[in-house]
Amino acid sequence: MAKKDPMDMPVEERLKTLYQLQTTLSSIDEKRALRGELPLEVQDLEDEIEGLTTRIEKIQSEIKEYEMAINQKKGEIETAKASVERYKNQLNDVKNNREYDTLSKEIEFQSLEIELCNKKIKDAQIRIEEKKEELAKNQDIIEDRQQALEVKKGELDEIMEETRAEEDKLKAKVKDLEAKIEPRLLTSFKRIRKNARNGLGIVYVQRDACGGCFNKIPPQRQLDIKMHKKIIVCEYCGRIMIDPELAGVKVAVPGTEEKKTRKRAIRKTTKKAADEPQAPETEA
Ligand SMILES: [Zn+2]
Repeated sequence: MAKKDPMDMPVEERLKTLYQLQTTLSSIDEKRALRGELPLEVQDLEDEIEGLTTRIEKIQSEIKEYEMAINQKKGEIETAKASVERYKNQLNDVKNNREYDTLSKEIEFQSLEIELCNKKIKDAQIRIEEKKEELAKNQDIIEDRQQALEVKKGELDEIMEETRAEEDKLKAKVKDLEAKIEPRLLTSFKRIRKNARNGLGIVYVQRDACGGCFNKIPPQRQLDIKMHKKIIVCEYCGRIMIDPELAGVKVAVPGTEEKKTRKRAIRKTTKKAADEPQAPETEA
């Protein structure tokens, strides 16, 4: 069965579908807003913990290297000590002065070697102590971050749990609606929405003004919007305009309409718009 081509859809239908998409996306935005900065905070903590883990591993391997160096020096000391012992025994049966001098020099040399090894061991031990302090510091930090992460993750999971099912449904609806919209129109709608602070890419005319930026719309333009023969955008903010009737928004008598319509599409209505007097427009 051939699917209905979005290109064949009349402007009226396109606007309606786009508006449905907008309200669905706005509902998702609201749920996301509930999560606030939490997803970002969780990500930041995870990144930090990863960095700390790498640092801790590096410190641990440095400590190991120093320990290995100490063991090697200890071995060298043992060898040197054995040599000294051997030379000292040989000193007991030297035959001449030259032999005595040679052995004495050897003993002196080996003793210096032992001293040097001991100095190196001491240095390495100092470095190990420093590294251990650094390690403890980093372990404290990582523990702190892990606790914070657990808390944040718990909070996020809780919010997600509450909204996930609903959000999945909304996302499926978005997919359906998007498939019905002509790709080029959808792309520009998405671009407008992305650049709009309140996430509105299509807005209805509200009190003769754009429902997105609240700038007045000239009467001729308002008429064009009401005709829904072509897609019209706000000349100030670039948002796509829809006639409230087509959007399915009930336009009641001013005063009673306020709450209802505002709740429907515009969350962030500025005070200015609400207070703006409704001066009758005259054709220029
Ligand atoms: Zn506007």
